[in-house]
Amino acid sequence: MASLDISLHDIPFDGLDYASQVTRMDLDLREGDPEFLGELEFTATIHAAEHEAWVDGDLRGVLLQECVRCLGVFKNVANIPVAAYYRSHDASATKEKPKGRKAKDSEQQGEETDSYPILNDRFHVAEMLRELLILSIPIQPLCQEHCQGLCQVCGQNLNQRQCGCDSLMPESPFAVLRDKLKSPPTSQR
Ligand SMILES: [Zn+2]
Ligand SMILES: [Zn+2]
Repeated sequence: MASLDISLHDIPFDGLDYASQVTRMDLDLREGDPEFLGELEFTATIHAAEHEAWVDGDLRGVLLQECVRCLGVFKNVANIPVAAYYRSHDASATKEKPKGRKAKDSEQQGEETDSYPILNDRFHVAEMLRELLILSIPIQPLCQEHCQGLCQVCGQNLNQRQCGCDSLMPESPFAVLRDKLKSPPTSQR
């Protein structure tokens, strides 16, 4: 199990090359979260300053996704870019802004949403990787661009074979023609 827990003191001046296998447990993934085959591979270069750190790399693996049309599970080779900024909140706590200053508040908040925390000179990359993994999954994954989906009448997976129910579907090409014939003539005297 990877630690994914990094100390600022372990990062040399010219950066640290970091590589780790990442399991579902490392990322605290639950049911309903993205599935993948085996483990993910996380590699990054990490740079640090006194109260900050920058993580640049990628998270690779084979994701298992469910197609929204045919409900089939398919493999998707993923290469998710990782670029994250970590910042010590210990440092900012000393120059805490007084209450009731709206403009400054929003500035501060903006910074905080863009950065992850460093606490006692240590930071965890797991939470950040978890977020990136979840965000990388499209809202409507498709097993293939032109997935035929399932027949709405019999449930047959139409990628595998045609079932012949199409003629029963209300959206037949003749429906348009029929509607045209039914509509009243526009101007007839
Ligand atoms: Zn599909
Ligand atoms: Zn059918």
